[in-house]
Parts: sequence; C-alpha cells; structure tokens
Amino acid sequence: VGQIFHSIRPSVPLPPESLSISITQYVLSLLSSSDISLDKRTVLIDAIADRSLSYSTFLNQIENLSNFLKSNLNLNKGDTAFILSPPCFQVPILYFSLLSLGVIVSPANPLSSSSEIHHQIHLCKPVIAFATKETESKIPKNLKHGTMLIDSLEFDNIINAKSGSDEVSTRKSMSVVNQHDIAAIMYSSGTTGRVKGVKLSHRNFIALTAGLFFNRIPRDANWPEQDISLFTIPLFHVFGFFMLVRAVAMAEGLVLMKRFDFEGMLKAVEKYRITYMPVSPPLVVAMAKSDVVEKYDLSSLRVLGSGGAPLGKEVSEKFKSRFPDVDILQGYGLTESCGGITKMVDPEEFRRYGSVGRLSELMEGMIVDPAKGEALPPGQQGELWLRGPMIMQGYVGDAKATAETLHPEGWLKTGDLCYFDSDGFLYIVDRLKELIKYKAYQVPPAELEHLLQSNPEIADAAVIGYPAEESGQIPMAYVVRKTGSSISEAQVMDFIAKQVAPYKKIRRVAFVSSIPKSPAGKILRRELVNHATSAASSK
Ligand code: AMP
Repeated sequence: VGQIFHSIRPSVPLPPESLSISITQYVLSLLSSSDISLDKRTVLIDAIADRSLSYSTFLNQIENLSNFLKSNLNLNKGDTAFILSPPCFQVPILYFSLLSLGVIVSPANPLSSSSEIHHQIHLCKPVIAFATKETESKIPKNLKHGTMLIDSLEFDNIINAKSGSDEVSTRKSMSVVNQHDIAAIMYSSGTTGRVKGVKLSHRNFIALTAGLFFNRIPRDANWPEQDISLFTIPLFHVFGFFMLVRAVAMAEGLVLMKRFDFEGMLKAVEKYRITYMPVSPPLVVAMAKSDVVEKYDLSSLRVLGSGGAPLGKEVSEKFKSRFPDVDILQGYGLTESCGGITKMVDPEEFRRYGSVGRLSELMEGMIVDPAKGEALPPGQQGELWLRGPMIMQGYVGDAKATAETLHPEGWLKTGDLCYFDSDGFLYIVDRLKELIKYKAYQVPPAELEHLLQSNPEIADAAVIGYPAEESGQIPMAYVVRKTGSSISEAQVMDFIAKQVAPYKKIRRVAFVSSIPKSPAGKILRRELVNHATSAASSK
C-alpha cells in the first residue's frame, strides 16, 4: 500500500465502541447537551400545510411511537421495517422511533414501480411496512405485520397519546442497541449490476454525526440563532437521511415539502427565512439560471450544500455571481460511505470551486491506479478508495458483491475516478463504474439492459449515461433490432417507461448493428460513451 491521504480535520470524540447506544440515543444526547429550551424550538415545518412541530412534542411522539411498536406489535431489534413515503412530517418520527428500538430502517423511493419494490423487499426481508395512502398499493400483502399507514388518524392517535402509567415498565423492556448493529438498509447498485441493499450500522451514523456536530462552519454575528433548513433532497436517500439526523442533533428546524415544485420552494425560503439548503446540483443550476428567483426575497440564505452528483465549476461561479452572499459548498459521498465523507468548513475551502472539499474527520483515502493496483501521489488520477468508521458493513445477502467492493483491509472501492491536490482537496473526474445519475438519482444500467433484452424485437442492448446540463446525465440506450423488426425510438422508450420509476426512463435511443463487448462478453461502455459524445460534438 502506497500513499494514504489522511483527514486533516481536528479529531472528534466518539463514544467507546463497547457502549450500547443507538443513533437515536446519541442524537438525543447531543441535543440535550446544549442549553436550548426545546419547548420553544421548532423542529419540523410542513411547507405545504403550513404547520409546525416543537422539539418537545417531537420527542414525545418518538417515545409514544416506540412504545407502541414495541408493546403492541412486538417489533424487536434486528427486525426490518420497509418505508415507502414522500417526505412528510411522520417520516422523521418514524425513523428515530425504529432506530431507538434497533429495528432496521429500510426506506425506498416512493416513485419506485411494484417490481422495483418487490426486489428491495426480497433483499431486506421486512416484517412490516410503513406507507401512505398513495404508496400503500405497491407493497406486497404478505408481510408478517402488514402495512401501517402513517398518514392515518390511527397513526396520529398513537403518536399523540398521553403517556400511560405503565410507561416505566415498557421502557425497561426496550432492546439494547449496540453500535455495530445495523441501523439502515439503503439501496444502491454499487459499481456494477442490479440494486443491492447497503448495510449501515449505528456506529456509521454516530461517526458521521459526530464530525458534523463538533466541526461546524463558523457563524458570523448576523446569523440567526436557529438555522432553518429546507429539504429538497429525498429522505429515503442517504443524503437526506444523514442531513435529517444532523439537523436534529443540532436543534435546527427543517422544512419539508411533500411535493416539490421550484417556485413553491422559493416561496418557502422567503416565508420561513431559510438559512441552509442541502441540494443536488440540478437545483443549483435552476437557481443560477431561472428568472423566477428574482420574485422572492431570498436574503436569509447563507449556505447551499450540494452533493449526490457533480457540480460544475461554471455553475458554482454563476450561482456565486448571482448570490454573492450565499456560500456554495460541495460534498461527496456514497450510500456505501453512509453519506458525505468530504466537506468544506471554512471560507478558504469554500472558494475551491470544482473540488468536493477535503476528507471528513476520521476518514482516509487512497488513489489507486486501476490498471496496476498501485497507490498514486497527489495530482494523479485513479480510483478513489476510502477507509474509516463511515464505511458500510457490506451488501445484505450478497457476499460476492461485498467482497468485490470491500478490500480485506477495510477499503471501499468507490468506482470514481479522482485525484487529490497537494492541499488535500479532492476532485471527482469521472465515473469508472456503470452507474448513471439522473438528477442525482441512481439509475443502474444493468437493470434497464435486462428489461430491454426481454423485448421480443430487441436482439441486444446497452445503456449508458449521456451528458445533459440540467439533469447531469440522461439514460441512453444502444439497441440492436432483431432481424425484421422496425421497433422505433418512441416504442423503445415507451416499453421501458411502463416498467420503471419515472427518473429511470430511457430518454435517448440509438440503433446499432452490434454492441461492443470484451472477449469475456462484458459491455464496453466506455466505447459507447465516447461514441455518444463524439456524435454529439460533431453535430
Ligand atoms: P449514491 O450512492 O446515490 O450517493 O451515489 C454515489 C455516487 O454519486 C458517487 O460514487 C459518485 O459517482 C456520485 N457523487 C456523489 N457526490 C458527488 C459529487 N459531489 N461530485 C461528483 N460525483 C458525486
């Protein structure tokens, strides 16, 4: 092993590994370590219904729900709960309750199709599902405890119950959660193939939260006492999940929008005096370009934190020239690294547009030459490997994919082509892995290829990410027609659109006579990407 890049950030205290503590308990201990009056602080704001919840009510609701799930449903440590919901008020309450019991939280995209959900349920094997009236029909009926509706009167009654007299005895029977127990199973295709379930432990989230809590962005005198953040990123994705955990640990307020629309978001920034927004790059592009922005008073905004997909240097500069008082920061991470493992915390770091920042606390990185397997020095490009307490525990039920992704010495192979400069700033150059990201959502090409190949008019197919400014990449299919078939571009798109979540749709098609493959039969995606981009630039 050659050069290892270490985090240069001040180290942060972590609880001893032997201490039994869940991420919920850890977050609550950080929350109560400050002398803030929790009665007066708002934790959640529903921008659409315009209602809010105080921290003290929120904590009561978490406790009520935990008691109910433990006593009435007998949910236990190690059970899994599948969650399919838009970003509504009940989701944070549900997450923290389940995590306090050691029940594994497995949230999925509410737009997923039934067959996508079927696959996820096959991976995580839940005993119960939590859904809304809209998403309920997509959940299979055969789960041990069925499906519980979180937008129902019954759920409201459970979380708002007055504490009963048997409270003490119920609390005694609560399960003891160890830090190395699994907290969440989230979905990612990793470097290749179909969607897999990523196992993240309580310890993973504790380490991440500690870094965010103890090393903060310096605040000037004009900064309001409580940060209010607006979430446009999904709560089922690791980015939204850890930003939620972070916000609660820091006693911040967070605004959720059950249905996102751009102008509604701007209105909410004005109305709730938003200071902070975790975002994916398409939103930065929209804010840098759209004229609607001028109609609203966005002067409360201090920071936009972008992640999930690459944010171009030009976009950052354009944004900055329009919003000189708002800092635009970039972070980088993967579901497999429990979220952001690089960040920017001071003004000198903020100015490195194009970089994703420096390694977070406790993390190590290595740049590995993909051909020779050797570690490379600063300035040279190779695959980024990561090690540290935020790295996943493996893929559920998939020892092969786990072994291919996690090196025996603890390194996670990210599948991203990167380099560090001599000041420790990380730059993401390209993706070596198959993964396509449409508006920061994961689109695994193998899944779409599998579907295309099932079409009787298609002899062979390959899917790649085609560069697009607004969305980052769009899924593009290369299709070989069967002899005699005249299947059209529109028919190919339609065939896929009917079977997948909307963000996975094929948005561009090219017909070819064969798909380039290696002698072992592996699709040579790089050749197709080069073909697509050179065809575009010669237009
Ligand atoms: P996910 O597991 O959905 O978070 O996807 C992780 C992948 O998203 C990474 O391996 C990168 O390819 C990409 N990604 C995440 N953040 C960034 C970023 N700031 N810049 C470039 N790519 C990113």
